[in-house]
This record gives sequence, structure tokens and C-alpha cells, in this order.
Amino acid sequence: MKKTALITGITGQDGSYLAELLISKEYEVHAIVRRETLENSEKLKNIAHIENKITLHAGSLSDHLSIYKIFAKVLPDECYHLAGSTFVDYSFDEEFQTISSNFSSTHYLLSIIKELKPACRLFFAGTSEMFGEPVEFPQNEKTPFNPKSIYGISKVSSYYLIKNYREKENIFACTGIMYNHESPRRGNQFVTKKIVTAAVKIKKGLQKEIFLGNLDAKRDWGYAKDYVLMMWKILQQDKADDYIMATGKLHSVREFLDIAFSYLGLDYRDYFKIDQRFFRASEKLPLCGDTEKLISAIGFQHTKSLHEIVEEMIEAELKGYE
Ligand code: GDP
Repeated sequence: MKKTALITGITGQDGSYLAELLISKEYEVHAIVRRETLENSEKLKNIAHIENKITLHAGSLSDHLSIYKIFAKVLPDECYHLAGSTFVDYSFDEEFQTISSNFSSTHYLLSIIKELKPACRLFFAGTSEMFGEPVEFPQNEKTPFNPKSIYGISKVSSYYLIKNYREKENIFACTGIMYNHESPRRGNQFVTKKIVTAAVKIKKGLQKEIFLGNLDAKRDWGYAKDYVLMMWKILQQDKADDYIMATGKLHSVREFLDIAFSYLGLDYRDYFKIDQRFFRASEKLPLCGDTEKLISAIGFQHTKSLHEIVEEMIEAELKGYE
């Protein structure tokens, strides 16, 4: 029988790739999206090509009744909770909004699953920001959390809710603690997309230089399509559990910059300028995930090197000019 999935955050990088993956696996795919989003073609651009293969339900994740009604209609076998306000830098107003919407939406989903369909499996998108300033390197599933942003705190608190519903209520609920993962659909605020966009503009003579922060900052950068496949695999296991989702390899912003500019036949050193505004508080230990559990339990293999990820991003950016 056809499986049914419900996705939150379908318009984003991960949600849209996940929807493609589930369609290819013959799932019936449903998603909760804001009413305003349904009327905004720019916000729907990542899923425009699959719109006739999915069912979008207008609803707000901050509203229990709205999620309840949609869930009751869909009664999914699997639910992927990827939506969430992701900004690490925030204003005071956004602080309340981020905490309450990120935490409540997870809580609503868990309680609704318990009430309406306890067999539904839930994947929750965690983040390396839960380690904030990490206390050890690399980080594994037992590393103590040390979040340094409201976003990180909202994810840590949701992680404990997930764990509680799993242990006390027997719900198949898992958190994937995801490190950075990139693709042509990455949001513009991330350094990878910023570099790719600028490199292509410079190549085309539309921009002269790029302003960046700390080029020696390092990240554990993976490939977004690999991460959505991992999400699905995590829900196909016999037992629910939490996993670090990472590559275990670090690369610097400078390396990323070099790969991107070199691919276009440019030398990044001719075009970059340091701008203090883009510097962050110093990172004593970098965020880098220990992939041991992911590999031994899920048998996961990464399909693209950083070079290949950058190339795909640049090629997609160039296509935008055709
Ligand atoms: P995130 O911080 O992991 O959510 O991802 P980003 O892509 O925003 O940043 C990755 C790293 O790039 C961080 O360590 C930043 O300090 C560093 N970085 C250096 N220059 C920039 C910049 O101009 N913009 C951003 N966003 N990050 C920068």
C-alpha cells in the first residue's frame, strides 16, 4: 500500500529535496504551508516543478487546531518536521517568536501523533547549533549541548520533547542533528550561496568584489540531497533513535572560496575584501560531527565531495543566466 508522508518546511532546501525523494519512492506527499506562502510564487519556487504531485494544506504551525485538522485528514505514516525559524542572529522580538513557534510546533505534532496515530513515525530536524560552542571535538550523540543562540535553545528543548515522547509514550520519534548541508537551493544568507552568487556575478562582470568575514572559519559541509536520504533511512530503522548527521570533515571558508572562483577560472584573492560586520564571536572548537553512529547504524555514505557540491552550485547559478 502507498505510504503517506506529511512534511513541514517543504518550500525550503531540505523539504523540497525530501518531497522529490518521497515522490520517487511512490509516497503520497502532503505538506503544511502558510496561507501567504500559497499565494507567493517566489516562495514556492523550489517545489513549482512538483506541485501537481503533492498536496499542500494551508495552515499555521503556531496553531494547534490548524495542525490537528490537517493531520486528522492526512493521517500520515511518516512526518518530517523541518520547518522552523532558523536565524541565529535575531532581534528581541524574534527571540519570543523563535522559541515559541519552534518549540510549540514540535510539541503540537508529538501530542497529535500520540492522540490520532501513534504508529506515525516522526523525524525532527535538529542542528549543530545545539552544540553552540562545542565542549569537545568532534561532537557525537553523547556530547553535552551548549547552545549559544535562541535558535539552538529552541532546538535543544524540542530534542528533549522528542526523546520524552519516544521513551514514555513509545512514539517512533527521532532527531537528526544536522550539520551544514548545501545545494543550489541553499538560502542566500549562508556563506556558501553568497560566495557562489558573487563568483558568478564577478565572472559575468556584474559585480566587482565580495565582502566576507572570517575566511579561516571552518564548517562540516555536506550535500543536501544526501541529508534528506538520511532522514528517510532514519525512519526506516527498527528502532527510533537520534543521530548526528554530518560528514566528519572540515573545510574553511577560504577553501570554499578558492574552489568556487577557480572553477570559473578566477583567483579569489583578486576579488575579496574583509568586512568586520560578517565576523562572528571566536569559535574555540569547530562544529564537526562524529559520523560513527550514522555509518554503523544506517550504513550511510556521502555521495559528493566539497568540490562536487561547489561545482553543482556554480552550474545551477550559471543556468539562471541562460
Ligand atoms: P552557519 O553559521 O553554520 O549557519 O552558516 P553560514 O554559512 O552563515 O556561516 C558559515 C561560516 O562562514 C561561519 O563560521 C562564518 O563565520 C563564516 N563566514 C565568513 N564570512 C561570512 C559571510 O560573509 N557570511 C556568512 N554568513 N558567514 C561567513
